[in-house]
Amino acid sequence: MDNYIAVNTPLLNGNEKKYLNECIDTGWISSEGPFVKALEEQFAQKMGRSYGIAVCNGTVALELALKAIDIQPGDEIIMPTFTIISCALAAVRLGAKPVLVDSDPITWNMAVDQIEAKITSRTKAIMVVHTYGLPVDMNPVLALAQKYQLKIVEDAAEMHGQTYYGKPCGSFGEISTFSFYPNKLVTTGEGGMVVTDDPAIRDKCQLLRNLAFEPKQRYLHEELGWNFRMSNLQAAVGVAQLERMAEFIERKHAMGQRYDECLKEIEGIQRPLAATDYAKNIYWVYGIVLDDDLMNGKALMQALHAQGIGSRAFFYPMHQQPVLLKMGLFANESYPVAERLARQGIYIPSGLALTQDEITSVSDKLKKILAKASVTC
Ligand SMILES: *Cc1c(COP(=O)(O)O)cnc(C)c1O
Repeated sequence: MDNYIAVNTPLLNGNEKKYLNECIDTGWISSEGPFVKALEEQFAQKMGRSYGIAVCNGTVALELALKAIDIQPGDEIIMPTFTIISCALAAVRLGAKPVLVDSDPITWNMAVDQIEAKITSRTKAIMVVHTYGLPVDMNPVLALAQKYQLKIVEDAAEMHGQTYYGKPCGSFGEISTFSFYPNKLVTTGEGGMVVTDDPAIRDKCQLLRNLAFEPKQRYLHEELGWNFRMSNLQAAVGVAQLERMAEFIERKHAMGQRYDECLKEIEGIQRPLAATDYAKNIYWVYGIVLDDDLMNGKALMQALHAQGIGSRAFFYPMHQQPVLLKMGLFANESYPVAERLARQGIYIPSGLALTQDEITSVSDKLKKILAKASVTC
């Protein structure tokens, strides 16, 4: 479809081409090239961290992070059920056990008041996942981490440039991770970053992402590593994107406000919370949750698609993932808020290249579809 409004279109009209050409002209295309270090330094600095370790995506960033803080088989890691599978995978691949909490129905973030009841003698870490545009309420999590001597791993894949009471997301706890997938606030096509203030954790991440080559003797290995390296080509795009991060956040914020304005009169939908005490929503994506008696998320996605509009379902909870259930995890567990969000929630076009006219058009079509739905039921 010619006029199809995609759920995400990135903005790549800054210095991306120029820096990519530099890679080609100089022949530096591997992870050894200078843009990788530049991105690591500049990104870490913007996130309020001492060190950045670039990797090939946000999923492996999480696995590397857990390994780097020495998560062992049998350890338990508390995380939201309402998240991407990358979080659970990182734990499971290391033989650790994801332990779940439900979401807050208003912010859609992990219900921090459910964490303490899930802490056991095997709990080693809390993985917080800032979701869709608002950060997790960190103060209660930090207090629990201190009380029970737990580590914090922060999945800030959706939160570049967001802050919690003015402190950057990605600067909390031992280690934090980011993704640079094209729908994220800063993209490298595929890519990710681990950030930390601890030089020992940095060294460990650098070693493990590069096949654990011993620094003193190449091709000698004391540990099982991975090739999680980022290429200079990816980093070149990342450096150009990072130059515009503040502008990107501004754009997302304006997008959210415009959607709010256009959609506020629609009955039967829950819109994203605009702000909390600790943060303004940066609308990484603009999600809506439909009242149960209106229609379900899947039906709305189909109706939008028929009108030339892309959308995407909310996360499908971890405790309902067949692959994890088959491993014997989460038997008979239920988390009603996450289940409802998965069933009734979708997000509408939210990319950085979205125009005001497109927002108006999406909103008009959404209104018509939902008006019809409320008449028929
Ligand atoms: C996108 C995302 C990831 C995974 O990142 P990839 O780069 O796609 O592997 C992990 N966690 C969250 C919360 C994400 O949104």
